[in-house]
Amino acid sequence: MAEEKSTVEMKKEALLYKRQNAAKTLPAEARAADAFCEGYKAFLDAGKTEREAAAFMAARAQEHGFSEFDPLRRYESGDRVYLCNRGKALILAVLGEKPLEAGVRLTAAHIDSPRLDLKPNPLYEADELALFKTHYYGGIKKYQWTSLPLALHGVIVRKDGETVRVCIGERDDEPRFVVTDLLPHLAGEQMKRTLSDGVRGEELNVLVGSRPFADDEASELVKLNILDILFQKYGVTEADFLSAELEAVPAFHACDVGLDRSMIGAYGHDDRVCAYPAAEALFAIEGTPAYTAVAVLTDKEEIGSDGNTGLNSAYLLHFLTDLCLARGENVRIALSNTKSLSADVTAAFDPTFPDAYERTNASFLNRGVALMKYSGARGKSGTSDASAEYMAWVRRMLDEAGVVWQCAELGKVDGGGGGTVAMFLAAQNIDVVDVGVPVLSMHAPFEVVSKLDVYMTYRACEAFYARR
Ligand code: MN
Ligand code: MN
Repeated sequence: MAEEKSTVEMKKEALLYKRQNAAKTLPAEARAADAFCEGYKAFLDAGKTEREAAAFMAARAQEHGFSEFDPLRRYESGDRVYLCNRGKALILAVLGEKPLEAGVRLTAAHIDSPRLDLKPNPLYEADELALFKTHYYGGIKKYQWTSLPLALHGVIVRKDGETVRVCIGERDDEPRFVVTDLLPHLAGEQMKRTLSDGVRGEELNVLVGSRPFADDEASELVKLNILDILFQKYGVTEADFLSAELEAVPAFHACDVGLDRSMIGAYGHDDRVCAYPAAEALFAIEGTPAYTAVAVLTDKEEIGSDGNTGLNSAYLLHFLTDLCLARGENVRIALSNTKSLSADVTAAFDPTFPDAYERTNASFLNRGVALMKYSGARGKSGTSDASAEYMAWVRRMLDEAGVVWQCAELGKVDGGGGGTVAMFLAAQNIDVVDVGVPVLSMHAPFEVVSKLDVYMTYRACEAFYARR
């Protein structure tokens, strides 16, 4: 009996794929993860919009000796450059020893998140309350965005071209804003709506004031008072909203979640939770890497990557082309030899909603960075299905670096789906696979991730840039 059992044990050892739990096996890594995540939480609070996140990381790049990219200059091994695309997307690069034609180690994450954008004509008065009309950005469950303290971030560009930066509702002494919801006592009709229709797009109106300008008989005095406050503070008039990008985002700050403080709750983990590790691992490169390392922090992923700051634009291709041209190298050869990680979040298995997931192929909190061969919807539509060869290369890279990782799909095959920037990298003839942090309550105003998974994503990026 004993001998037989040991044969089974040996077979198990040799043949079964063992899933790791970083929290069980690596106490030292847990301490390192906790320390790393303090920096991440500071980034979350400082960069709630793509503009703020890009500015934060551009400043970090300058601290680390990166200089602004000049497309006409020839860069040499060891040079560190950054390119900021229209204030909303950032490319960071460390030039390697090998020629660019040997390929680049490229990571791509996005720094835009779902939110409520103000409409071009946002301000109106109704029954002596002043409100902003919004147009939501990205995929949200609209009912989650009511009765929640909101802050207002963004820019107003006046007709004279002067840019006014707006950030109200982050400091304790500042006011907040809110989308009101109906009291349950009177919600009889609303409660009959479906969940997707429970709060409608045109009901996501942000409350911004209630006190009239002065005690006289004119109309819309509450609205006038709000405009007066904005004029006093920013020198803007109502028409200036027409050339503004103002975003209402949750006003709360990132915090630890759980009695064991093992998780982080925050707005906008998707996808700052991958952008931060991708950039920080690049900043941590010492000396000159073998291959040129590039991190792109892009915009517009949540609405399909379209627009000139999204990865469906040519800005990354132009950057790599300029880098090659100045060195007399062929960008097409460089692209075809480039390896990339599309660093974006995935759905963590939620035991409260197990039916949405297929447990054998789901990602779990604390099991490390998730590797996703493909994303997409309705039979792998809208994705890049990484090759078996490239999957093998990435597996080897992660295992040899001692990174805790797991393989995952988003959820059940017919459950829905989603895409990432992977397909836009693949369209440039680059090898790409999705990696990222599993998230609970993805796209909710308050998302949850595991600190160990964040740290393992950092370790994965670090190993990727260093891989020979
Ligand atoms: Mn994402
Ligand atoms: Mn997303």
